Amino acid sequence: MSNWLDFKMIKRNVALESVLQHYYVKLRRSGKDQYRGRCPIHRGDGHDAFHVNLAVNVFHCFACGAGGTVLDFVAAMEGCSLFEAAKRLQAMTCSPTPLTSTPKEKKLVTERRRAASPLNFKLTGIDCSHSYLAERGITEKTAVEFGVGFYTGPGLMHGRLAIPIHNGEGELVAYCGRSVDQTQPRYRVPPAFAKSEMLYNMHRAGCERNSSVVVVEGFFDCMKVHQADVRSVVALMGSALYEPQRYALLSKFRSVILLLDGDPTGRKASTAIAQNLRTHCCVQVALLPDGVQPDQLPAEEIAQILQPFANDD
Ligand SMILES: [Zn+2]
Repeated sequence: MSNWLDFKMIKRNVALESVLQHYYVKLRRSGKDQYRGRCPIHRGDGHDAFHVNLAVNVFHCFACGAGGTVLDFVAAMEGCSLFEAAKRLQAMTCSPTPLTSTPKEKKLVTERRRAASPLNFKLTGIDCSHSYLAERGITEKTAVEFGVGFYTGPGLMHGRLAIPIHNGEGELVAYCGRSVDQTQPRYRVPPAFAKSEMLYNMHRAGCERNSSVVVVEGFFDCMKVHQADVRSVVALMGSALYEPQRYALLSKFRSVILLLDGDPTGRKASTAIAQNLRTHCCVQVALLPDGVQPDQLPAEEIAQILQPFANDD
């Protein structure tokens, strides 16, 4: 592939529909080839401000004034130059699943791709008072609230601490099993579970009517922050922010406080995530001392660390 970027070719050949799908934009059909919905660029309240015409391959937002071709859209979403947008689109179109493949009927994502289908069972007999929880500083009240506990029944979670994971809509989609001794792997999830598709605790944090959210790495970090009375908190279940997670964050919150681990991985991730989100929302980084993770801290200390970032809404 040459470095030559053919802007005209990209504008003509890359379907805006595919690009909108890539960013999980949800729109309603309003006419032949026409769609409208909430603007993914300025993310304002107007539920009809953002208009798309798939026949002409253009968009326009009547609220923030953004508009143009696929190139303008990507540049606005990524906060980058048109040249950079063209490079990204060119890379996308060269990927194994071509973005230009248009479905037979012109059907724009009317619903976000389902992150994971809900489980059709629920584990019973989970012991929320298991000593491992106390060892990790999780109170029984929190354990009950999060449905976390030791499981002795059969299956993948046997003899592990079962941690229920819900999607943004609050549907149970998986359990993660944490070993309570030296057994490897430390965390066991069902093979089909894609953690990159969701944020742990999003269904609770999203109901908090708070415009800001604390982002941590792990399940226990999340529960500890919750115990510190900061209820708007989600966990990445790792140290990277993936596109569906980014979308979920930006569509619910205007301000993000990163509270990742005080190790080189956490620091590097903080910088990368802050940079990624900065053009779209307010990002603040809470720094922890070297080698410290939120789940190792007592609630009072977590509250103290987060206090300067608190806002009143
Ligand atoms: Zn707009």
